[in-house]
Amino acid sequence: MSAARENLRTARRIVVKVGTSTLAHAATGKLNLYRIEQLIRELADLHNAGREIIFVSSGAIAAGMDKLGIKNKPETIPENQALAAIGQGVLMHIYEKFFAEYGQTMAQFLLTKENASDTHARENFHNAMSTVLNMGVIPVINENDAVTVDEIRIGDNDNLSAIVATLVDAEVLIILSDIDGLFDGNPKVDKTARLIDEVPEITSAVEKMAGGVGTKLGTGGMFTKIQAAKLATSNGVTMLIVNGSTVGNLRQVLNGESIGTIFPAKI
Ligand code: GLU
Repeated sequence: MSAARENLRTARRIVVKVGTSTLAHAATGKLNLYRIEQLIRELADLHNAGREIIFVSSGAIAAGMDKLGIKNKPETIPENQALAAIGQGVLMHIYEKFFAEYGQTMAQFLLTKENASDTHARENFHNAMSTVLNMGVIPVINENDAVTVDEIRIGDNDNLSAIVATLVDAEVLIILSDIDGLFDGNPKVDKTARLIDEVPEITSAVEKMAGGVGTKLGTGGMFTKIQAAKLATSNGVTMLIVNGSTVGNLRQVLNGESIGTIFPAKI
């Protein structure tokens, strides 16, 4: 087991990010309740085991689309803002219900780019988060899509989760995705593409492997994950990309097992 993976066994403050493509059924765009319940139970149990969990969740827009029976993501900003406002509540209702079933309290935080940009706002956020964590509560974070416009958007939750991990001094950021990790080719078209276990340095060759594409429901794809990895690792946070479709992956990866791709912290 590599030193970086060994450290995961004792890491205390952990940010877990889950993307829309993990939360929703690809065929229908509707929420995957079975998977969401398993995930929330896993987070509650990690918390019971003594880890501090910060949960960054996408899916507001998808939940809004589902609620209104809209099949394709609209193109205009106001429509997406409206769907986020509708869907964020739907999502929190479901999380609240599942967390409550496992005796866990959660707290919602909606961020904009401004929260991460000036010292005062950063300090404010850090204090609020530390207080919630000290209360034994799990913060659930999304970007405040209902009020952010392009100029002040972070835009994707991979980068948002890296910003959050940096602001709360997390040791680890785990990005749960619909792919097993970073491959040295595109596994969808190239059968010989191999999963990379550890990326010690984010070189231009690594960036090339990331390509550009996302999915119909998700926003980022591998490109924003590599951006997030750069930000996280250069600020002392170890990042992982792990497949969120397999129940138990989160617990196993935190036991040091060789799952997904790890980007060890630089400092
Ligand atoms: N904040 C957006 C949402 O909740 C998702 C952004 C992303 O998928 O990265 O729908």
